[in-house]
Amino acid sequence: MTATGASLGYLLASVCFIVALKGLSSPKSARLGNAIGAAGALVAVVVVSLVARPDRLALILLAILVGGAIGVIAAERVRMTAMPQMVALFNGVGGAAGALVALLELAETGGRGDVDQLAVAAFTVLIGSVTFSGSVLTFAKLQELVTGRPLIFPGMRPVAALAVAGALAAGILVPIGTPLVVVVLLAFVSLGLGLLLVLPVGGADVPIVISLLNAFSGITVTASGYVLGNVLMIVAGTLVGASGMLLTKLMANAMGRSLVNIMFGAFAGPSTLGSTVETDRPVRSAGPADIAILLGYARKVIVAPGYGLAVAQAQHTLRDLTDELERRGVTVEYAIHPVAGRMPGHMNVLLAEADVPYHKLKEMSVINPEFRTADVALVVGANDVVNPAAHTTPGSPIYGMPILAAEDAAAIVFLKRSLRPGFAGIDNELLHGPKTTLLFGDAKDSLANLVAAVKAL
Ligand code: NDP
Repeated sequence: MTATGASLGYLLASVCFIVALKGLSSPKSARLGNAIGAAGALVAVVVVSLVARPDRLALILLAILVGGAIGVIAAERVRMTAMPQMVALFNGVGGAAGALVALLELAETGGRGDVDQLAVAAFTVLIGSVTFSGSVLTFAKLQELVTGRPLIFPGMRPVAALAVAGALAAGILVPIGTPLVVVVLLAFVSLGLGLLLVLPVGGADVPIVISLLNAFSGITVTASGYVLGNVLMIVAGTLVGASGMLLTKLMANAMGRSLVNIMFGAFAGPSTLGSTVETDRPVRSAGPADIAILLGYARKVIVAPGYGLAVAQAQHTLRDLTDELERRGVTVEYAIHPVAGRMPGHMNVLLAEADVPYHKLKEMSVINPEFRTADVALVVGANDVVNPAAHTTPGSPIYGMPILAAEDAAAIVFLKRSLRPGFAGIDNELLHGPKTTLLFGDAKDSLANLVAAVKAL
């Protein structure tokens, strides 16, 4: 392939990535944006292969096929609720690939070359290894292979400080020409650093760390693009790094937290995850027939969906219920908390799947004043995002997080299976409030029972 052909291919792929990001910013265009991004990635891989190793094209095509098949099968099989784990794994793979590229380059040149090239290669090994081990541990936490609690061991702070000093020292030694063993040492210390970075992060903060590691994987790709002299990798990596950093900041803001507090809070003090034990304090519960009366004769119902809706895959049944209520003249709106579920946008995607009109999904700042005028706040599989402890309990893991004002509605109905707490592991005072009624059971079953009961009114 000619140099001009390659440049045009790179340009086309870069434009695809930028258009894809723009498309992903709205649910209406997200599907198309995703397809354009995937097409850009395909163009990128093919052009790079033709330019770099035309002699190995068959092998590269085979790798594309195998990788593509794994990607398609993983995407088909993954449950919506397990998406963060999958993103964590993909981040890890990106980090590992970048680190390996830099390691191989250093091995090939015998650690000799321009200081700036060597410095960037050392940085790539460092950040790529941190991303890999941090992502694998994040995956294990989300998959509950290890506890989701912050893990801290005695002497963790000095060990972390030593690891940072070791990585910095090795990172400085590489550019001034040292044996390859120092590079390998740098990789191992960085793997340890990745673990130390994620071990103290707990509970509700883990999804934010995924976003941060996603940004790290972008930075790794940018750095390896510099090492290989590949403009496209620099462009693609910078897009991932910058958008990942912005998303991390938005998520941290939505939870009223600073990134420093999330990453280093557990080193300084209390756990960011409470208990997972069920409370034994009394609550008021009712059956579907009673709740149906409450809903069916209301003027306005605001639905607050959460993670449990996704677990139960109850979005379609929820839509059936709201259709039934609207047929009876009830005004129904949906209150969308920015971190409801386990990813930003989780609820929007879920409800779009059930064809809930997009204009009915109201952002937190828009819907909160409306709860005062609602007869019922119907909380479906949500907990932390309506927990008043965010305002009332300093020291609580969610203190400072903006919440949906469900407590302001005339009546609050929770659909959940038990009195277990939400993701942050803390009691929710609203469950015990005088205006609150619980309908116990899987959200899908409860909603189906409610549809039947409202129809029978
Ligand atoms: P929560 O985890 O607080 O609550 C979910 C509730 O759903 C639980 O109380 C659970 O109760 C219930 N539930 C689970 N399965 C079912 C089911 N099959 N049927 C009915 N109910 C069910 O979720 P929220 O959406 O309210 O809050 C999101 C949490 O994630 C917050 O802590 C937030 O901080 C955190 N988070 C989210 C981020 C994001 O980007 N989205 C980022 C960082 C953190 P039970 O087991 O009794 O059924």
